[in-house]
Amino acid sequence: MLNIIIFGPPGAGKGTQSEKLIAKYSLQHISTGDLLRAERNAGTPLGNTANEYISKGELVPDDVVIGMVRNFMAAHPDATGFIFDGFPRTTPQAEALDNMLLEFNTSISTVLGLEVEEDELVKRLVLRGQTSGRVDDQDEDTIRNRFREYQNKTLPLQSFYQQQAKYQSVKGIGEIDEIFASLCSCIDGLKHG
Ligand code: ADP
Repeated sequence: MLNIIIFGPPGAGKGTQSEKLIAKYSLQHISTGDLLRAERNAGTPLGNTANEYISKGELVPDDVVIGMVRNFMAAHPDATGFIFDGFPRTTPQAEALDNMLLEFNTSISTVLGLEVEEDELVKRLVLRGQTSGRVDDQDEDTIRNRFREYQNKTLPLQSFYQQQAKYQSVKGIGEIDEIFASLCSCIDGLKHG
């Protein structure tokens, strides 16, 4: 199986690049942000709870997102690979993911980290907020809070995966197709087996 984590701060382009990667490598896309927004739009209890965190730019509790990912994976037993987008975002999530993949007799193939500096990210998120209608893209305070959460809770995962020799960093600024080509060469350079 090819199991990829697309990693990076809010606004780095994880969703955009995931769409292209799933098409090229026939992967199942797991975006915890998308799953949470779908729950919220459906008005489920989980979605309502999650929205309280999302609207403040805070991370949703680990057990909620881990449960969602577990359900998604269980619902796709024939998948030939997964792309994890916006997950894991904390060390407990990363440890849970390693265990879930073990149950599938597989593991993370690589972690592709999109590198974009904060000024560019804020610009992108404000712009996205004008059309996406996403509650967490609307004001700069919420956006800044998401960066704080990223710095404090998510960035430590970079060394978690570096220690496993799985982290590859890719420049996330430039043409979408150019960035996509860099991601593909990271994947194509992996030894399968
Ligand atoms: P972005 O990467 O632009 O912040 P996402 O759609 O990935 O967008 O996430 C939006 C929000 O959903 C996050 O700010 C957080 O509140 C919640 N969320 C998504 N994934 C997770 C996760 N793995 N753990 C905790 N909260 C999450």
